[in-house]
Amino acid sequence: MIFDPFLFHPSTILLIPALILTIYAQSKVSGTYNRYAKIRSNSGLTGAAVARMILDENGLYDVKVEQVAGNLTDHYDPRVHTVRLSSGVYNSTSIAAIAVAAHETGHAVQHADGYAPLKIRSAFVPVASFGSQIGPFLILLGIFIPQMPILLTVGIYAFAFAVLFQVVTLPVEFNASSRALAFLGQSRIVSGYEEMDGAKKMLNAAALTYVAAALTAILTLLRFVWIASGRDD
Ligand SMILES: [Zn+2]
Repeated sequence: MIFDPFLFHPSTILLIPALILTIYAQSKVSGTYNRYAKIRSNSGLTGAAVARMILDENGLYDVKVEQVAGNLTDHYDPRVHTVRLSSGVYNSTSIAAIAVAAHETGHAVQHADGYAPLKIRSAFVPVASFGSQIGPFLILLGIFIPQMPILLTVGIYAFAFAVLFQVVTLPVEFNASSRALAFLGQSRIVSGYEEMDGAKKMLNAAALTYVAAALTAILTLLRFVWIASGRDD
């Protein structure tokens, strides 16, 4: 939030650990990416080739691999069964590129397997984006209209759905990374301790950004509860 009407409320202190972890995670992921984007893998395979290989090994011939603009914009789109890799991953033979490509195919395999946390997460997408926008607005409105405490209650529940979405993202991301590392090891796309260690560090750094996002969401919810409860007495 750019404009925060509760900036000077004591609950703002809750956001400090979230902010510190977010900044740390961001610098960790970009630092790790920059480091392993420079180290070529022995296999000489590009991110795109690795994604294709893992998908085919899992019988997912119908899942497409496409290039997408931007930096670290890599994702799997379950609606159109497509793994989209940023140019820096798609065309690169680096350890970072291979790790990211394998992680995204991990999501495609989760989807094909009917992995439950992914299903829950997908079901939450519309309600979560709605909740994260409307929740704070209703809470603010509820504070200015104390005659309508229902606004606070609904606002907090709406925002809680957005928090739940961030939390259920964690098992989905951790599982995609552990699948990725297993594929890379089994198929010998990654060889030797150093390459495997690089891929692990890359994926762990990426996972930390999701932990930071979940922590931020939880603490923001607690902050809203704090602000709202202060209005009751
Ligand atoms: Zn992911």
